[in-house]
Amino acid sequence: MQQIDSIYINGEFVTPHGTELFELFNPSTEAVIGTVRLADEVDAQNAIAAAKAAFPAWSKTSKEERIAVLKRMHKAVAAREEELLDAIVTEYGAPKVRGRWMAQYPADVIAQAIEALEDFEFVEQAGSAQVIMTPVGVAGLITPWNSDAGFICNKLATAMAAGCTAVIKPSEMSAIQTQVITEALHEAGIPAGVFNIITGRGDVVGDVINHHPDIAKISFTGSTAVGKHIVASGAQSLKRVTLELGGKSPTLILDDADLTQAMPLVLGAGFMNSGQACVAGTRILVPRSRQAEFEAAIIDAVNRVQSGDPQDAKTDIGPMVSQKQWQRVQDYIRLGEEEGAKRLVGGVGRPGDLEKGWFVKPTVFVGHNQMRIAREEIFGPVLVIIPYDDEAQALDIANDTAYGLSAMVLSGDRERGVRIAQQIDSGRVMVNTLAHEPKAPFGGFKQSGLGREMGKWGMQAYLEAKTLMVG
Ligand code: NAD
Repeated sequence: MQQIDSIYINGEFVTPHGTELFELFNPSTEAVIGTVRLADEVDAQNAIAAAKAAFPAWSKTSKEERIAVLKRMHKAVAAREEELLDAIVTEYGAPKVRGRWMAQYPADVIAQAIEALEDFEFVEQAGSAQVIMTPVGVAGLITPWNSDAGFICNKLATAMAAGCTAVIKPSEMSAIQTQVITEALHEAGIPAGVFNIITGRGDVVGDVINHHPDIAKISFTGSTAVGKHIVASGAQSLKRVTLELGGKSPTLILDDADLTQAMPLVLGAGFMNSGQACVAGTRILVPRSRQAEFEAAIIDAVNRVQSGDPQDAKTDIGPMVSQKQWQRVQDYIRLGEEEGAKRLVGGVGRPGDLEKGWFVKPTVFVGHNQMRIAREEIFGPVLVIIPYDDEAQALDIANDTAYGLSAMVLSGDRERGVRIAQQIDSGRVMVNTLAHEPKAPFGGFKQSGLGREMGKWGMQAYLEAKTLMVG
C-alpha cells in the first residue's frame, strides 16, 4: 500500500490542508493499492500564491537560463523511466509496450520544449514596431489520467519555456504516477514556486483555478464537458484558455485500399491506449462495395487481439482505468445493441475467463453515423463501421461530427489519399500512417478543443504580444 500524503508547493513537499483520503486502485485486480490525501481550496490558494510570487523572477530569466533548467528537468525525468513504467502499468493498466512509450514520452516532450525554445523568437520587428512576446502570467495546468506524466511534463515544460510559472492539478486517479514525476521535478532544482502540484478533486481544486483572478491562463486536457465549464468560469477574468478535449475520429478506408496493410493501422488507431485515447479512430468508414470483405477481415483481426493482463508482453488492450470507466464502456456496448447496430465481435462482459479486473472485450459494430455509438466518445475499445456509397458521402460522414481532433485516410493511391485528407475538418489527418510528429501543432477543430499545443504554436499560447513603438 502506497500512502501519498504530501503535495508540492513553493519548492517543498508539504502536508495538504485538505484531509480527504482518496483510494487508488490496480485496475487489473480491482485491489486498493494506496491512498492519496487530496488538496483542498486552501492548498489551491497557497499554490497560486507561490506561483504568483515566483513569476516576476522567472519571467525575466534569459532563454539560456530556462534551457539550463529544462535540461536538468529532462535528465531527472528520464532517470525515472523504470519507476514510471511500473506505476503506469500498476495504477493505469497500460500494456507493457504502450507503457514503455508512456514512460519515455515525458522526457521526450521536455526535449521537444527545449528545441522549441531554442528556435523561438521572443522579439520581432513589425514595420516600425517591435513586437515583444511576453509571458502571460501564472498558468493553471489541469490534466487527465490517461497519460498523466506526459501531460504534466508537456504543459509544464512549455509554460516554463515561455516564462510562465504554474499550478498543476493532475487527475486524482493517477497520484502514484504524479508522485514519481513530482519527485523527479523536485530533484531538477527548479526555483521554488515556479511549479506547484496539487492533486485534488476537479470541482474543488480545479474550480479554484478556474475562477482565481491570479491565474492568467488555463491549459486543460480532458473531457469536452469540463472544457466548456472552464471557459465559462474563466470568462469573468478573461482567462486565456487552451483546451485539448475529446474526439470521435474517422478512419476513412478508400475503395482502393489494401486491407492487409490497412488492418493493423485501423486497429492501431481504434484500440490505441486500450481505447482510452482522445485521438482514437473509432468510426471506420468503409466503402459499401467492400463491406463484406472488410467485415470478415476485421472479425478475424479482432479475434487475434489480446485483452487482459498488462504485465503480459503479448497483451494489446489492458483494463479500463476504473470501475466507472468499465461500466461506461459496458453501457455503450449495450446501447449499440439497443440502437440496432450489428455486433460483429466482442460484446458486454469480460474477455475469456477473467472474473476480476476492469477488462473489456474489444468490440466492433456496424451501424450508421446518427447512432449515439457513432456520435459520442466512448473512451474504450469499441468501434463502429459505417458503410458509404461514394467519396462525397464518405467525406460528409467524416465531417458530420461535433469533434475534429484526428483522422486517418487509407488508400492504395497516395495522391488520392492526400486529396481526401485535405477535405477533412480535423486538427490532424494522417494518410497511410499512424506516425506521430511532436514538432507539429496538436489540437482540435470544433468541440475537440481550442488552440494548439507543441512547438512554437504551443509556446505562443503562453505569451502575449506587446507592441513597442519608440518616437
Ligand atoms: P475529465 O474532464 O473528467 O477530467 C480531466 C481533469 O479535469 C481531471 O484532472 C479532473 O479532476 C479535472 N476536472 C474535473 N472537473 C473539473 C472542474 N469542474 N474544473 C476543473 N477541473 C476539473 O476527463 P477524464 O475523464 O479525466 O479524461 C478523459 C477525457 O479527456 C476524454 O474525454 C478524452 O477525450 C479527453 N482527453 C483529451 C486529450 C486531448 O489531448 N485532446 C487527451 C487525453 C484525454
